[in-house]
Amino acid sequence: MFMPINEPADWEADAICGEVDPELWFPDRGEHSKAAARLCGQCPVQGECLDAALERDERFGIWGGLNTRQRDRLARRRRSA
Ligand code: SF4
Repeated sequence: MFMPINEPADWEADAICGEVDPELWFPDRGEHSKAAARLCGQCPVQGECLDAALERDERFGIWGGLNTRQRDRLARRRRSA
């Protein structure tokens, strides 16, 4: 039976970024998109999104309201807790 490699998680259906220009979530490297982070703050699946990005060590974009540097910092804090 064929199984797609990246089948979306159930929570992704509730992501509000699916209705907005995805470019907003991928600012230039080292920059942060406050507009994306603001929308993430209103997203009902922010926690799930952030945990998933941390789990796969996502290297680009805003996920769960955090950019790569912020996610790295959070991952270090979680590891040392
Ligand atoms: S938290 Fe942000 S990036 Fe994650 S699903 Fe919601 S809107 Fe999209």
